Amino acid sequence: MPTAPVSNLFYQSRQPRPMLDRGEGIYLYDVTGKRYIDGSSGAMVSNIGHSNPRVLEAMRRQMEKATFGYRLHFQSEPTERLASETARRMPAGLDRVFFVSGGSEAVESAMKLARQYAVARGEGTRWKVISRHPSYHGCTLGALAVTGYDPLTVPFAPMMREMPKIPAPTCYLDRDNLDPAARGLKYAEYLRDEILRQGPESVLAFIMEPVGGASTGALVAPDSYYARIREICDEFGILLIYDEVMSGAGRTGAFIAAEHWGIVPDLVVLSKGFAAGYMPLGAAVARSDIVETVLDSGGFLHGFTYAGNPLACVAGLAVLDEIERQDLVANAATMGALLKSRLDGLMETYPFIGDVRGKGLLLAFELVSDRASMRPLPKELNAHSRLVEIAYERGLIVYSRRTRGGYEGDHFLVCPPLIVTETQIDEIMGLLDGALSQFADEIAP
Ligand code: PLP
Repeated sequence: MPTAPVSNLFYQSRQPRPMLDRGEGIYLYDVTGKRYIDGSSGAMVSNIGHSNPRVLEAMRRQMEKATFGYRLHFQSEPTERLASETARRMPAGLDRVFFVSGGSEAVESAMKLARQYAVARGEGTRWKVISRHPSYHGCTLGALAVTGYDPLTVPFAPMMREMPKIPAPTCYLDRDNLDPAARGLKYAEYLRDEILRQGPESVLAFIMEPVGGASTGALVAPDSYYARIREICDEFGILLIYDEVMSGAGRTGAFIAAEHWGIVPDLVVLSKGFAAGYMPLGAAVARSDIVETVLDSGGFLHGFTYAGNPLACVAGLAVLDEIERQDLVANAATMGALLKSRLDGLMETYPFIGDVRGKGLLLAFELVSDRASMRPLPKELNAHSRLVEIAYERGLIVYSRRTRGGYEGDHFLVCPPLIVTETQIDEIMGLLDGALSQFADEIAP
């Protein structure tokens, strides 16, 4: 029996968790030998699966040379190579890469770079970063200021300056008669309205997850939304930041999700799948003129000690290599389409599945009391944690949250590593079906 955890990781519950032993491909094993399918890639991190021997070998070779060289003392070859390799995968013009150690740090860096750019251009009145509700952009106070997830923000409200929020495009909850294109435009116009309400001269940037993550359950807007948001930002000279911490590095079936709509953001934020759990790594990627302007004005007043360390960058390079070698972006698209159709199929058996959504292998389903009204399940059922527990006992890890739109609902992310095969999707679906059927019995009146 595991003992109560004392480490800082277990902050949400005193409930002991199985002790992790090892990982292999899409599987994780605890110390008793029980096997779990990593059906959510951890928190949508382990994109290339666990214990990839080529990545481990690249890291071992680097460790024997140098694990750390302070960025103000040395450039390092892996860091420069990773910057070029990252830029090569970005839309043209986004070619400057600022490395950090995680998603929150990357979001902070993007927002601070944007602010310095505005100041350097004589637009010091611009400081507000508009975001969406719900959304998740990180857990530092600055990143929480743009996060639209009340359970994490409200307790810290006096300590942070909350930024303006517009509704996320939760079109699947709408019951109006608009077609998808009109709905997308409706949600984009909330941005224009908010900019005018705030005063355009005070607005610095708009930050959004192009395919939502944990806070919305893989929310995808209608196509019309993306282009209109870009237009609105351009109209008012507002920088567009795509937070691709979760959707980037191939997960949605494109290297960054922006590609699906041909959008070129001004800044892109990466982490999670970027080094796929082999090392803590993130990046804020920016247009070169933004960086040049900031450098001309005296340099970026920002930086983390571990940023751009050669070991993390070697891990990142090896992960990018692996994504290419195994054609994982294409696999995310094909396996994602297969998994999505199989999840859609579950709606026939389980009337409490109200919606299945997502792109590539960033997929989620949502539970409801009633599909017609999309009313959520009663909170007391605690569905988001109960179904996860049932699946966990059966050896399948999925990721859940209770939040959406203006009110609460339970959604579950099914996001296996991008190396997943058709047979493994069968395996995931078998376990998920069993878990849902047990859950259905438990909630039956
Ligand atoms: N942005 C998005 C979209 C995320 O999903 C996350 C983490 O879940 C973050 C930022 C924060 O990343 P980290 O937990 O690495 O700080």
